[in-house]
Amino acid sequence: MEHIYDTIIIGGGPAGLSAGLYASRSRMDTLVIERAAYGGQVATTDELDNYPGSIENSTGASLSKRMKEQAAEFGTKFVNEEVAGVELEGDIKVIKCMSKSYKAKTIIIATGAYPRLGGFKNETELRGKGVSYCATCDADFFADLDIAVLGGGDSAISEAIYLAKFGETVTVIHRRDELRAAKSLQEKAFSNPKIKFVWDTVVEEAKGTEVLESLVLKNIKTGEISELKSDGCFVFIGYLPISELFKGKITMNERGDVITDEEMRTNIPGVYAAGDIRVKLLRQVITAAADGAIAATHAEHYIESKLR
Ligand code: NAP
Repeated sequence: MEHIYDTIIIGGGPAGLSAGLYASRSRMDTLVIERAAYGGQVATTDELDNYPGSIENSTGASLSKRMKEQAAEFGTKFVNEEVAGVELEGDIKVIKCMSKSYKAKTIIIATGAYPRLGGFKNETELRGKGVSYCATCDADFFADLDIAVLGGGDSAISEAIYLAKFGETVTVIHRRDELRAAKSLQEKAFSNPKIKFVWDTVVEEAKGTEVLESLVLKNIKTGEISELKSDGCFVFIGYLPISELFKGKITMNERGDVITDEEMRTNIPGVYAAGDIRVKLLRQVITAAADGAIAATHAEHYIESKLR
């Protein structure tokens, strides 16, 4: 007979791993499907000092590893596969992967988000040749070189601080004259002698024949155009939800964030969403993990209610 899981969790970041932990602790037959590395965005975060209990030498990679191990210890199963399609209506949901299909009574969508592109000329051409979206992956290539960082949020500023350990200079280019990042991060960045700021400015073009050599900048208040020598350009201007698979099936906002209630329920019975894919104010590991726990608990209640 075909196996039917109690819950299938799509995505193995903090939301998905926490959902796996809570579901399997409730003795639900649980499968996590992840297409890439476990941990999602946080797996490539260097320092993690705002997750309670993560103090000394805590990296996103080590936390992700422990989260996965903990879920596995309680019985969560894992497969590394890309989901190609979903059938969410009805009592038994079907998740179609490249090699086979999986069935479950409930689904928890925890597919997270991906970095927004800068939208400047030659960005795609120079991606991987100086233009990057992941500091922990690529910082090493820019030792003692000049690095630019785009954005003014938590990601841009925490990654600028990290990149300053490698580069000769780090120039943060921000479209306004004040940062959105947490005040503690701002203080760290402002007091770092390697980090400079270029305000009210956007990148118009990346220049370079083989690799990135410079960025063409435009001051949006004065219209002034200038050129900044840059060996690396790290783009951190926000994230967009990975929700393409669910378009037309689940209620979303105009950005593609999935709309849920407090119990992480979507508009489809038995289908939940957790973490960065949701409409929410605070996107952090702690809120993703909490979402996962809530989604798993309500998925269990849903299955029980069907038996009554
Ligand atoms: P974010 O908070 O949305 O900030 C995006 C930044 O990019 C803003 O400064 C924004 O400028 C700028 N921006 C947006 N679109 C732009 C464009 N087209 N051109 C130029 N600049 C543009 O995104 P994030 O920093 O990636 O953070 C995402 C979520 O993860 C947040 O909830 C954040 O708190 C969380 N996070 C937390 C931590 C941490 O706690 N250590 C670390 C990383 C991420 P404006 O300010 O003018 O809007």
